[in-house]
Amino acid sequence: MQISLEDSLFQASIPVLKKIESHGYEAYFVGGAIRDVLLEKSIGDIDIATSAFPQEIQTIFPKHFDVGIQHGTIVVLYQGNSYEITTFRTESTYSDYRRPDHVEFVRNLELDTLRRDFTINAMAVDAKGNLYDFHGGYQDLKDKLLRAVGEPLERFQEDALRIMRGIRFASQLGFRLEEKTFQAMCQLASNLSKISIERIRIELEKMMAGPYLTQTISSFKKAKLDQAFPQANQFDYVEGLTYLVNQTTGQAGLSPLITWSLLLKGMEINDEKTQRHLMKQWTLSNRLMDQVVAFLKLDHEISQQTFTIETVYGYAQEVIDQMNTYLEITDQMATKKEIEALISNLPIRKRQELAINGKQIMQALKMAKGGPVIGQLLDQIEAKVIRGELTNQTAAIIDWLKDQ
Ligand code: ATP
Ligand code: MG
Repeated sequence: MQISLEDSLFQASIPVLKKIESHGYEAYFVGGAIRDVLLEKSIGDIDIATSAFPQEIQTIFPKHFDVGIQHGTIVVLYQGNSYEITTFRTESTYSDYRRPDHVEFVRNLELDTLRRDFTINAMAVDAKGNLYDFHGGYQDLKDKLLRAVGEPLERFQEDALRIMRGIRFASQLGFRLEEKTFQAMCQLASNLSKISIERIRIELEKMMAGPYLTQTISSFKKAKLDQAFPQANQFDYVEGLTYLVNQTTGQAGLSPLITWSLLLKGMEINDEKTQRHLMKQWTLSNRLMDQVVAFLKLDHEISQQTFTIETVYGYAQEVIDQMNTYLEITDQMATKKEIEALISNLPIRKRQELAINGKQIMQALKMAKGGPVIGQLLDQIEAKVIRGELTNQTAAIIDWLKDQ
């Protein structure tokens, strides 16, 4: 079968495949890009697999980075672009080359596809567009089926992350998990505890952002995938996800800030210390953690109708923007308008926008030395300006200062 390689990412990479071929080796596009082009979706990244061993790739492409060489991956620079090229590898005994860490390089494409997770991810296409499909991936794509390559129990036993990958592909693509594949996922879900939480987080975030999350939740529940999540004995992830889904029905591509906020809210984790503790375990960045905490605070103020111009002023623009998006998708337009009105009435968005600074205060009050009083005055000026009691103009502020 012939696949169209007209996508610019493929076009840009064809010369790389041809160059490898010109040295007598095989080279193919593999993995997600083939799946996505067959689904007529936009292609995220291009993976190239080859029969050439890493040292041979290094020779063919003198400019390279050996970032993942122990796994057979070399990043090469060619005609101004960079490409990730991975040598066919296997965990079986068919190798003619063995790395100390047991990654075995092989010369045969079919052997390489045996290590891949799902049939739809195990197809390859050569530079001419010929499809190589050893595991019925094309038919499974047409049937919207996620089927493990080979024996599912063995495949998930080898690498439990594949269980999470399966569920996130279901959520991204709206595919059904084939019976035996799903049974194996259920059976081995607890093995997920052996996987680094960061890798699980990446899959979880992709799952949460998937357009078919609603349908996927029931598989997630049934397989009890949360049993290996941090403190799953204490917190109800299923409850959190159900809440997330109910709140945002039909929405695709939720931001990490909204998804984590709603997940924690649905899990009824209300105190900041516990929120941070859990997010730290999930290896969220400090910045995202701060934003989630702020989002949940603002959400609380909104639900209690306690937000004022002063409280809204304290929130970072990003949190306000995300809250607006959230209010929009959950049909809370009146609240959104109220917040927008408050924001548009704010004379300043941050202290740096005050028409006066510490130095000017010292000059105006003829102070020889600074000290904490300057900060206190700035606090007062800021509060008055926000409330509209003082105009944000240097002269007006200086007049007020002199009256004190
Ligand atoms: P995405 O669209 O998220 O990039 P992808 O399928 O391309 O999805 P990658 O993580 O980029 O996922 O991996 C590229 C390919 O490598 C996959 O399509 C699959 O063939 C293989 N692969 C990745 N991770 C695993 C794994 N844990 N077990 C087996 N094969 C894997
Ligand atoms: Mg990919």
